[in-house]
Amino acid sequence: MKRVRCPKCQNRIPFDDSRYEEGQTLVFECPECRKQFGIRIGPRKQEEEEPAGPSCGSIIVVENVFHFRQELPLKMGDNVIGRYVPGTNINTPIETVDPSVDTTHCIITVSKNRQGSLQYVLRDAPSGTGTFVGNTILRDKDRLRIEDGTIITIGATTLILSTGEEK
Ligand SMILES: [Zn+2]
Repeated sequence: MKRVRCPKCQNRIPFDDSRYEEGQTLVFECPECRKQFGIRIGPRKQEEEEPAGPSCGSIIVVENVFHFRQELPLKMGDNVIGRYVPGTNINTPIETVDPSVDTTHCIITVSKNRQGSLQYVLRDAPSGTGTFVGNTILRDKDRLRIEDGTIITIGATTLILSTGEEK
């Protein structure tokens, strides 16, 4: 539903724009002042537009008892991952009630190498329960290169890196 404003009395008139084609001209009669006027249907807004810029892959959060499956898009630079809490200022929050996931748990840094391909480096935030890749816990200074399909465990939660690259 949209509204058009009467050019004479400023009355707002609702109409169902989904019934009309882009570029079509409609004629209204204002129910208040009887003024007749035409409008042209503009282009419809794209719904849920993709964020600008090339994709940097994503993190798949595997469903468990604490949350449903989620896909968190990654961006260039630091992607700070943790449990969502109101007022959080991390840029990659997970909707979960897993108490063993810290509100700032680990960080994936996306950058481009000299060949122009994306690389992914994981580090612990540091967190209370640690960040694991396979059976290995990352120590504070560790910076681990991860690749498409790498499985990361934080608390009771499993994350999978999806670089979105063609294979
Ligand atoms: Zn009017």
